[in-house]
Amino acid sequence: MDFRLTDEQAALRESVRDFAREVVAPVIAEHYERHTFPYEVIRQMGKMGLFGLPFAEEHGGMGGDYFALCLALEELARVDSSVAITLEAAVSLGAMPIYRFGTEEQKATWLPRLLSGEALAGFGLTEPGTGSDAGGTQTRAVLDGDEWVINGAKAFITNSGTDITAMVTVTAVTGTNPDGSKELSTIIVPTGTPGFTVAPGYSKVGWTASDTHELNFDDCRVPAANLLGERGRGFAQFLRILDEGRIAIAALAVGLAQGCVDESIRYAKERHAFGRPIGDNQAIQFKIADMELKAHTARLAYYDAAARMLAGEPFKRQAAIAKLHASTIAVDNAREATQIHGGYGFMNEYPVARFWRDSKILEIGEGTSEVQRMIIARDLGL
Ligand SMILES: Cc1cc2nc3c(=O)[nH]c(=O)nc-3n(C[C@H](O)[C@H](O)[C@H](O)COP(=O)(O)OP(=O)(O)OC[C@H]3O[C@@H](n4cnc5c(N)ncnc54)[C@H](O)[C@@H]3O)c2cc1C
Repeated sequence: MDFRLTDEQAALRESVRDFAREVVAPVIAEHYERHTFPYEVIRQMGKMGLFGLPFAEEHGGMGGDYFALCLALEELARVDSSVAITLEAAVSLGAMPIYRFGTEEQKATWLPRLLSGEALAGFGLTEPGTGSDAGGTQTRAVLDGDEWVINGAKAFITNSGTDITAMVTVTAVTGTNPDGSKELSTIIVPTGTPGFTVAPGYSKVGWTASDTHELNFDDCRVPAANLLGERGRGFAQFLRILDEGRIAIAALAVGLAQGCVDESIRYAKERHAFGRPIGDNQAIQFKIADMELKAHTARLAYYDAAARMLAGEPFKRQAAIAKLHASTIAVDNAREATQIHGGYGFMNEYPVARFWRDSKILEIGEGTSEVQRMIIARDLGL
């Protein structure tokens, strides 16, 4: 048992930490305020190799692993979650399905641009009428000659409408299984395909410098060869993608929780009340100590889930535990950090206000807290 980072992992963490402080921090508040996508920051993240972190070099990746991605996400989210979720969704939801399930031709077509950060991809599972219950998918794809004809809609899809979005993978009902359940498959839809429209961006509470859209498919035709992996394997594919993604979201949540500690320590030393820094009060010190305790234990939970995944061991329960715990404590820390900042904590110019607005979605996206509890209970044989 050794959770200390290797020299290589520590160096990656340092370089992303420096990047977040020096490049992301100075510009992100304005993007957040104006709801604009930080293209220049994303371009620089691409140059650093962050989009290729967990992929093999033969496909244009950096030859690292999923834990390296998690370390990068934690450090980015310590400063800003919009940038972190853009990377998380691009890698774990956008490129990973192609990498894991694609044909050699699909990999050759899409991975070089996705892994360099030159292009982004979205993953369309959620629909306007169904999220947690993916079995309720209504979007349909019918094979007509050598083309899939797709009809339906997807909701809340990250990275689906930027200027550099190249494609989305969508889950669709492609038939009926022998037991009567829906046959689900995953299909690649390139941006600009006739019949595929991207609605204007949502007005969101948080993650406002990230890209999220509803997508509509109206007799949208793509080649039969755009099927990702085997027909009927859509359910198994997204379960795998989401299991991994939960570790990445946990890392992102730990980053936000740690950012709350950083900002609270800084403010507690600066701000004076009753003739002394507010941080001299044990009530404030204990709040910060509890915040650090939560960030630390949540970090151990995602390290454990990642270690199991990389060892090829079952990790479903541990990933759900890590995601549930990290998202819960991220919300706790954001609330306490705001409290420590008093009235300034309610002002958008303070990072903790952003952390507060960004924290809640962590208990919802990539499986709500209730869904995580369902996964844990099921894995315990209940
Ligand atoms: C900013 C943002 C980005 C997103 N990005 C993506 C993306 O890139 N791709 C994508 O596919 N999706 C994406 N999502 C969608 C997200 O994953 C879903 O919102 C989430 O899975 C919950 O689904 P839902 O919103 O339909 O809620 P519902 O499933 O309708 O759930 C509503 C409430 O009921 C609860 N609930 C449901 N069933 C049960 C049950 N059996 N027992 C107890 N409680 C239950 C839920 O926990 C929740 O509290 C994104 C969402 C947001 C807000």
